[in-house]
Amino acid sequence: MIEDNPGDARLLQEMLSETGNILFDLEWKDCLSRGLERLTSRGIDVVLLDLILPDSRGFDTFVRTQAHASEVPIVVLTGLNDETLAIRAVHEGAQDYLVKGQIDSNLLVRSILYAIERKRTQETLKKYAAKLEEANRLKDLFTDIMSHDLLNPVSVIKTVTDLELERTKDRGILNTLQMIKRNTDKLIDMIKSASMYARLESMEELEKSKMDLSNIFKTVADSFRLQMDEKNMKLEYLAGDRLYAMVNPTIEYVFSNLLSNAIKYSPSGSKIEVNIIDENNYYRIYVKDWGYGIKEEDKAKLFTRFHRVNKKGVKGTGLGLAIAKRIVELHGGRVWIEENPEGGSIFYVNIPKAC
Ligand code: ADP
Repeated sequence: MIEDNPGDARLLQEMLSETGNILFDLEWKDCLSRGLERLTSRGIDVVLLDLILPDSRGFDTFVRTQAHASEVPIVVLTGLNDETLAIRAVHEGAQDYLVKGQIDSNLLVRSILYAIERKRTQETLKKYAAKLEEANRLKDLFTDIMSHDLLNPVSVIKTVTDLELERTKDRGILNTLQMIKRNTDKLIDMIKSASMYARLESMEELEKSKMDLSNIFKTVADSFRLQMDEKNMKLEYLAGDRLYAMVNPTIEYVFSNLLSNAIKYSPSGSKIEVNIIDENNYYRIYVKDWGYGIKEEDKAKLFTRFHRVNKKGVKGTGLGLAIAKRIVELHGGRVWIEENPEGGSIFYVNIPKAC
C-alpha cells in the first residue's frame, strides 16, 4: 500500500486483518519513491495506490508506478472528488479503483483478489499474443522462402531438364528425365499454390476494379481448349456479354480452378455447362459437369486445404478449391456444390456486383 494518510492506511490494515480465511501480508509505504523502491525488490502481488502523495500528485502517480512494475496489478485508492482520475487510470491499465470512505472489508478483499486474477489472465493473453505474432512472422518468412528461395532452384532444374529432354536419345535417360520433369512440375505447382494460399489467408481485402466477368471467363476457357480437345469434351457457355462487376484479377483463378476440375474429374466425351446469371445485386455463376460427382459428406471438406477425394491418378495439389473459396470470400461472395441430377456436380459461385 502506497498511502500517505496514516489514518487511511490503518483502516485498510484493519479491514484486511478482519478477513477470516485469507491471510494478507500488507506493507505500507507513505510516499511514491519509497513505494517504487519496494516494488523494485519484487515479491509484491498487488499495489493499493493513493494517487495524491507528497512526492507525486495525480495521474502521474499511476503512470510512474505502472512503468516501474508493469507486471503487478494496481488498485487505485481515490477520494470522492477525484473519481474521474481513477477511472482514467482503469482505462490505462489499473485493475480497479476504490473510493475512500466507501470501502468495507468484503469489497476490499474482492477487489484485491479480482485484480490479481484479472492481471494474471491479461499477462497470459499477452504471452499468447506475442506467440501468435511470432508464429505469424515465421509463416510470412516461410511463405517468402517458398515463393522465392525454393521456386528459383526448382525452376532451374525444370529448364535444364526440358533442355536435356530435347537432346537425349537414350531411352533410359529419357524415362528418368520425364520422371524428374513430372515431379518438378508438381513441386512448382505446389509451391505456387501454397504461397498464394498463405498470401490470401493473411489478406483482409482485395483491390477491385470494374471488369467484365464474361470476358474473363472466355480468356480462361481459351487456355483450356487443348485439354478439352484431348478429352474430346464440349463446353457450353450460356451467358451473354458485358457482365460487369467490381472484382480483383484473382477472380480468374476461380474460373480457372472450377473449369480445370470439371475437365479433370469428368470422363472423355462428356460436356461442361457454364452460365453467369444476373441476379440484380450479384451474379450467380455455375460450372456444371457430367463427371464422377462428389459424395455429400465430402462436399464441404473439399474447400479445406489439401483435401482430395478419389484422385484417380489425376494431377493436383488439393489447394485449388481452398484458394478459390478464399478469393470468393474476399469478394464478399459464396461458393458451394450441388449434385447434377443427371450425374456429376455443379459448382456455384455468388459474386456481388459491387461491395
Ligand atoms: P486438386 O484438383 O488440385 O486436387 P482442388 O482443391 O481443386 O484440388 O480439388 C479438391 C478435390 O475436389 C479434388 O482432388 C477432387 O477430389 C474434388 N473435385 C473438385 N472438383 C471436382 C469435380 N468437378 N468433380 C469431382 N470431384 C471434384
